Amino acid sequence: MKQAPIYVTQPYLPPLEEFMPYLQQIWDNKTLTNGGPFHQQLEKALCEYLGVEHIALFTNGTIALITALQALRVNGEVITTPYSFVATSHSLLWNGIKPVFVDVDPKTLNLDPARIEAAITPHTTAIMPVHCYGHPCDVKAIQKIADNYNLRVIYDAAHAFGVQDEGGSILRYGDLAVLSFHATKVFNTFEGGAIICPDAKTKLRIDQLKNFGFVDETTVVAPGINGKMSEINAAFGLLQLEHIDKSLAERQRIDEAYRTGLSGITGIECLPDAGETVANYSYFPVLVQPEYTLSRDALYQKLKDHDIHGRRYFYPLISDFPMYRGLISAQRSNLPVAAAAADKILCLPIYPNLQRQDQLRVIDLIQGC
Ligand SMILES: *Cc1c(COP(=O)(O)O)cnc(C)c1O
Repeated sequence: MKQAPIYVTQPYLPPLEEFMPYLQQIWDNKTLTNGGPFHQQLEKALCEYLGVEHIALFTNGTIALITALQALRVNGEVITTPYSFVATSHSLLWNGIKPVFVDVDPKTLNLDPARIEAAITPHTTAIMPVHCYGHPCDVKAIQKIADNYNLRVIYDAAHAFGVQDEGGSILRYGDLAVLSFHATKVFNTFEGGAIICPDAKTKLRIDQLKNFGFVDETTVVAPGINGKMSEINAAFGLLQLEHIDKSLAERQRIDEAYRTGLSGITGIECLPDAGETVANYSYFPVLVQPEYTLSRDALYQKLKDHDIHGRRYFYPLISDFPMYRGLISAQRSNLPVAAAAADKILCLPIYPNLQRQDQLRVIDLIQGC
């Protein structure tokens, strides 16, 4: 019997009938967007769940990143990682900012703080690191550099929903942290995103910027964008939140089964955690080392031939795309660690409904059975 394809992720969808009462409410009160009741409820619920004070919901994570930079009036040059989804750097280009790529740490694949200082110039105004795969950056070292040079820090925390260290949510670090609620993420609202704000004043400015720059009915103070989350998306987020703990527990179980199942295989290296006390198991990246019997691309293809679709996150590096590769900092000689990781990385399927026998099939294929 032909088996169903297995993708790297599959969105978690609660039973449809659970969503119906939410839709009924929207139909009843006829508020579809513009900060309606579900939008307000979801902001409150997420603040409680994540353990943060202020959050501004967005239509997606990319618009949230673009707005975060605008809110802090970041310009000139921003130091960032080439080892991420392309939206990280694109948010800089959309603000007319020049990205300066700095290499990553070989253990975490997050921006390497030891290499940041050498990339700072008189034009540098901020650092935009990514908590890659939900593994926390070296937040203390990054903040220290930012303090010394008077730079802003904006975390692309698209992978980091629910991740904590010993002091609480890792979203509290930086001047701002940005989440994505895209369908592929741990917590999704179909499309969506958010900015974690340190205080009410910053949230107010961000709320104005996501609504065209309006501060009242007749006053527009900035070239803001339309970044608002709709009531349908916010309602789905509220429903999703009811299921999130169960869904994270499932992910943890799958993560553990991979670690056990892959542990004896020469040349398959699982990424360790990075000091988080609560992880979100959003991805399951492995590095395919030269000692493995196949190249990374051959393993990727072998799985694909069995209708198992891993993803090479992150390959190619952002710095290799045409709109970036002309930058001096984009040269591969400047980014040896990221370049090596991009050539070895493979993210394996992980999502709440991944069946045990399907996961065993993935492990067996990697084992060579
Ligand atoms: C998903 C993602 C984004 C973009 O988020 P969208 O909600 O899809 O716009 C940005 N950065 C990283 C690292 C991501 O994984």
